[in-house]
Amino acid sequence: MPDIGAEGQRKIGNAKVIVIGTGGLGSPILSYLAAAGIGTIRFVDNDVVDLSNLNRQVIHDTLKIGQRKVDSARSALQSLNPDITLEPVDVKFTRDNAKELFNGIQYAIDASDNLEAKFLTNDAAIEAGIPCTVGGVIRWDGQMLSVRPGRSTCYRCVFGEEPPEGSMKAPAELGIIGVTAGLLGVIAASEAIKYFLGFPDEACLVNRMLMVDVRSLDFAHVAVKRNPTCKACGGKA
Ligand SMILES: [Zn+2]
Repeated sequence: MPDIGAEGQRKIGNAKVIVIGTGGLGSPILSYLAAAGIGTIRFVDNDVVDLSNLNRQVIHDTLKIGQRKVDSARSALQSLNPDITLEPVDVKFTRDNAKELFNGIQYAIDASDNLEAKFLTNDAAIEAGIPCTVGGVIRWDGQMLSVRPGRSTCYRCVFGEEPPEGSMKAPAELGIIGVTAGLLGVIAASEAIKYFLGFPDEACLVNRMLMVDVRSLDFAHVAVKRNPTCKACGGKA
């Protein structure tokens, strides 16, 4: 393909990406990263496959109910592309293990189902000095932002502090329409692939948050500004 070429394929083959979560967003993200040939994919989840997940978590299937999600995801991705390195990590993503998990990684993607992990992906990526994409889906609505540490607005610049624990329902409780997670997941994967191919910030969701309403298929971009007192990126060049 003229847009990618041998050089682009080499860049993608050398890329190391971490994906936090192997669920509704994680399924398309992981599938498309693997299919594109991203050289090393580390993925983190500490859950098991449940029948109620399968409307959106399409990397898993009915034969894998009860399996560890990272094992289920690994076997699916291995079949899809045996030539890449897969690094499944069966732990809960926390502030204590974030630094170790991000070690050696060049791009982070949040595919979690909770705000705590989204803030943490953002904070850990900024700490590690690597770009990231953070998004979320509830019912028919999705949003997504990509972050370039030191030169762009971060997720915490926009949303400030985590809401107190228990004050908000998890997306799964509110309901997720499978296709919303699928669409946003594909967009997140494309953000990472474009980064490795050298697309400029302007071509990515940098300093502008994507808001998608799948009911109307309205795609809106909201300009977002850096917060100089942001706890994650404030004061960092
Ligand atoms: Zn910030």
